[in-house]
Amino acid sequence: MVSQKITMGNDGKIVVPDSPIIPFIEGDGIGPDVWHASKAVIDASITHCYGNKRQIHWKEMLAGEKAFNQTGEWLPKETLNIANDYLVSIKGPLTTPVGGGIRSLNVALRQTLDLYVCLRPVHWFHGVPSPVKHPENVDMVIFRENTEDIYAGIEFNYNTPEAKEVFKLLEKLNVSNKVRFPDTSSFGIKPVSKEGTERLVRAAIQYAVTHHKPSVTLVHKGNIMKFTEGGFKQWGYELAEAEFGSQTYTWTQWEKTKASMGENTANEELKHAQAQGKIIVNDVIADNFLQQILLSPKDYSVIATLNLNGDYISDALAAAVGGIGIAPGANINYNTGHAVFEATHGTAPRFANTDTMNPSSLLLSGVMMLEYIGWTEAANCILSALKTTIMRKRVTIDFYNLMHDATLLKTSEFAQEIIKNLDTKIAIGKAD
Ligand code: NAD
Repeated sequence: MVSQKITMGNDGKIVVPDSPIIPFIEGDGIGPDVWHASKAVIDASITHCYGNKRQIHWKEMLAGEKAFNQTGEWLPKETLNIANDYLVSIKGPLTTPVGGGIRSLNVALRQTLDLYVCLRPVHWFHGVPSPVKHPENVDMVIFRENTEDIYAGIEFNYNTPEAKEVFKLLEKLNVSNKVRFPDTSSFGIKPVSKEGTERLVRAAIQYAVTHHKPSVTLVHKGNIMKFTEGGFKQWGYELAEAEFGSQTYTWTQWEKTKASMGENTANEELKHAQAQGKIIVNDVIADNFLQQILLSPKDYSVIATLNLNGDYISDALAAAVGGIGIAPGANINYNTGHAVFEATHGTAPRFANTDTMNPSSLLLSGVMMLEYIGWTEAANCILSALKTTIMRKRVTIDFYNLMHDATLLKTSEFAQEIIKNLDTKIAIGKAD
């Protein structure tokens, strides 16, 4: 079988050969342990499902400590070129270099490839220890905007000439009185654009359409930050109506009907839209949303939100379904096809090379990658085998410590157990 690159087709869909070359970064700290375990399961599942008709040709790219030790650079230019050329890649966690230079390797990758969606599915696996009473009610997919907001990195430290320039500009704009302590203030800038919002919300609604999800919720703080977060909400609704008018029913439509024809008529209209299978596009203010995910998580499905809100929400939701050892993620540009699938936890350096940590976060990111390239049979086989393994309580230390009568496995043993269970067929669905 000839190994080839994944490419972007003229129809805007990626073209995947039977032996795609997929670059990987094994990562720092516990990265090599969880990567080797994940790779073994992914490869075994592909062989299990497709025999010798399909296989991934893995290509290592260097980043983090391994890159620094070999090349003197934390993120060599060649790595960025490879990630750019091959479109789809996967990575373990990377150390954030301390001191000057690169602020974060992950952020550098996201910015270079303009990976504007941070995609985090959050879903409970039966048997995973959770701090909430009904983790089975959590079944959400978060679309976090990845390139804008206060995370753009435009900051000026207090008492620098730049901070003074910013203050002068605020004086010119007649808003300097809003700065409580001008002499000791640092400043940060929060760019949020119509274009950036539109591409993120478009991806979220498209996902809901493709996966038959009931709703898309825009989460924002528009009550306080009128033009940035408020703009996100307004542009999001406008996009839903302009581009997905026949497939969605928005909360702004409900409000308009309520204002002109009363609440009962608006509610009838909403019910009718739901009965027709339309996606309900609504919005929730971020602080309220953090309550709602604990109080009534069943009401939410696809979430579209800005960068900072998305950061908090992703971790809060991950905790509800069993924590960071099992939460997968991906960074995607749906226009160019670039996608980097990644473990969402860090390098946990204390546990490096101990073969004890849970590989599920990286493995489930691999499952997302298989779905992205259209190899859904292999993805479903892994999901099914992972569920069986957890239900049989044969788990790594993080779950073992919280379960009754469980068997403790090393990272590599856990991977072998999943491979053994690749034959088990469990219905893939909500909260299995
Ligand atoms: P961390 O996620 O590495 O570890 C925090 C704790 O979470 C660990 O001590 C461990 O108890 C637990 N944990 C993490 N991964 C686990 C797993 N797979 N299985 C079971 N338990 C697990 O967070 P940290 O200590 O704040 O960060 C360490 C380093 O990782 C820093 O350099 C940080 O910048 C980096 N980091 C990288 C990424 C990334 O590459 N995506 C993300 C977060 C942090």
